[in-house]
Amino acid sequence: MEFLKFLIKIGDIMLKHNEILVHIKSEMLDLWNENGMKNIPATGWFDLFSQIIEKYFGIQDSHFMLFDMDRFIPLNYNHSIMKKMESLTWQQVSYAFSTSCVANLSKEYSSVDSSMDSSLLFKNREGTPEGLMLMKSTEQWNSFANSEFVEEFSTIASYLISNIKKQLFIAQQEKQYRELFNVTEMFHSTMDIDRILEGVLLAMNSAFPSFQTDLVLSNDQDRQMKIKVKLFDYLSERPSAIEAFVSGEITVENASDLDCRLLNAPIKGRQGIYGILQVRTPEDYLFSNRQKDFIRMLANTSGNALENAKLYHQSHRLIADLQLINETSHKLNMNLKLEEMLEFLQKQLTKSFHPMQSCFVFINDEEMDITTSCPKFIASKPGQMYISHINNHFKKSRDSLFIADFTKFAADEKVPYLSLMAVPLIDQQEIFGYCFVLHEEPYFFSFDSFKLMQSLIHHCTLAITNSKLRDQLQDMVDRDHLTKLYARSYLDQYVEESIEKDHSGVFILLDIDNFKQVNDTYGHQVGDKILVQIAQLLDQTIGGKGIGARWGGEELAVFLPHFTEDEGKNLGLTLVDLVPKMTNPPVTISSGLASWEHSGQEAFHDVFHAADTALYEAKNNGKNQLRIFDSNVSL
Ligand code: GH3
Ligand code: MG
Ligand code: MG
Repeated sequence: MEFLKFLIKIGDIMLKHNEILVHIKSEMLDLWNENGMKNIPATGWFDLFSQIIEKYFGIQDSHFMLFDMDRFIPLNYNHSIMKKMESLTWQQVSYAFSTSCVANLSKEYSSVDSSMDSSLLFKNREGTPEGLMLMKSTEQWNSFANSEFVEEFSTIASYLISNIKKQLFIAQQEKQYRELFNVTEMFHSTMDIDRILEGVLLAMNSAFPSFQTDLVLSNDQDRQMKIKVKLFDYLSERPSAIEAFVSGEITVENASDLDCRLLNAPIKGRQGIYGILQVRTPEDYLFSNRQKDFIRMLANTSGNALENAKLYHQSHRLIADLQLINETSHKLNMNLKLEEMLEFLQKQLTKSFHPMQSCFVFINDEEMDITTSCPKFIASKPGQMYISHINNHFKKSRDSLFIADFTKFAADEKVPYLSLMAVPLIDQQEIFGYCFVLHEEPYFFSFDSFKLMQSLIHHCTLAITNSKLRDQLQDMVDRDHLTKLYARSYLDQYVEESIEKDHSGVFILLDIDNFKQVNDTYGHQVGDKILVQIAQLLDQTIGGKGIGARWGGEELAVFLPHFTEDEGKNLGLTLVDLVPKMTNPPVTISSGLASWEHSGQEAFHDVFHAADTALYEAKNNGKNQLRIFDSNVSL
């Protein structure tokens, strides 16, 4: 029976260990000769190899791990036993194989299934491992494993495995490099960022068809992309993604909450990192170092291509930016009125940043005075919300404001615009207003737009201040200091223009009755107050339908373009009626009305004269009344 220890029963024949080795050698040679030129996948090769093991040792359950760089990687991770396998590093297992090429790894490594009670290391003559086979041992195998021939078996098999691996890697690399080559070639031929990103995704899909790949890009994109990309957000990104982005190295994370494993490869150019290529694999999948190299190369190539394309677009944009600033400066030197200037600037903002709202706001002594550029929006509820947010910001800070997603500032309300940029208007260290733009999409404005907007607004601030001062100065010239009604000179010009272009109108002259007496009785200051009271009443009664002016002394005038005589009469009578009620001490007025209709020949002094004549009649007729010039001025 001692003799039988060296015999293994193969079918009906009993073979000695050395004979088995010879048989196996010849089978392995056949295997290589028959299949070497065929394009068999890795699992196919090892199925064939398993058949030999089964034939000679009766082993039915065996699994391979391939050695790659420094670790053994499960070949068929879909198998239930291999699913929970971790890769084993050579450093970890070399101790177990220090005396023999056979060991029981399941005893020492919990991830190795306990049924796999024997492991064979395939190590070539140079001592380098090629792979590892986990198996459920049999009596025949244990007998052979204890013989001196097992070492040679390991060596011979390692050569076969080495050849298979080379063959597989060559095929795999050929495919990957061809992919990389095609992508790189495309990258060099295009400045189209969309195409580059699409190319990266296609290459990843072709190399790893069963895995999901995402592009997570940082928000310095100066344009909207057609390709679906995620935005890199420091606040919500996973630490492994942030680490890859910051360190510029590939990171891998077991994301058990997502039931997957994540690989993050930084998209890196020479000047910076533009985002992350994120691959989702099953939790038990491990990338070999060669696969990682491929992803790294792809990410770097795309990073460089992206950088080139960005620089190209940037240089184009810089030219456009300069043109914009140049055109704006030119226009600003033309001494526009404030209103015209703001209109022009809003057009420039729209052209450059495509906002959905843009607005200039001027702050006057804590109270807000809003320009006509967007009064409707500012009056609306959302408008008020943005205004109050920006106001609060500029109360505390003189820095421009850049918000990529307004949601976080808007309690629970739904907000119509998520992107916001606001730049202050600063004159002599004081914020006197600001300009802001809004867009409904989050992250709509790029940081470059922000810088350009700041530059544009800084360029314009002085011109805005100047035209504001000019407007204020003009207003001072145009208005009477005491009553704030328009001055005679302005009225003259206004009436002259209206008579030329409008079809009809009404002119009313008003004179305070016995005003000298009021002054004498109450003093000049009280007289002044009464003038102001009447001026305010005039403004309210006219309400934007015409203008009120100080004709001179205690005589005032009302001009109502488009008014008919009847409409004018109503307004005139209202004034005669209200003045004594609204003044304190009460005074009355006399007024004369002249209306005109277009016959092409009216001169404004005729209209004035007619009203004056009617006023004279009112005075002579007992005062405190309205008189109408007896016919339309139609000379
Ligand atoms: P009548 O009813 O005929 O118009 O009598 P009157 O006293 O109003 O007219 P008169 O032309 O005799 O006097 C006009 C007065 O109006 C003289 C002047 O003291 C007063 N007056 C004119 N401008 C001002 C002003 O700016 N402030 C004040 N307080 N009084 C003014
Ligand atoms: Mg008078
Ligand atoms: Mg008077």
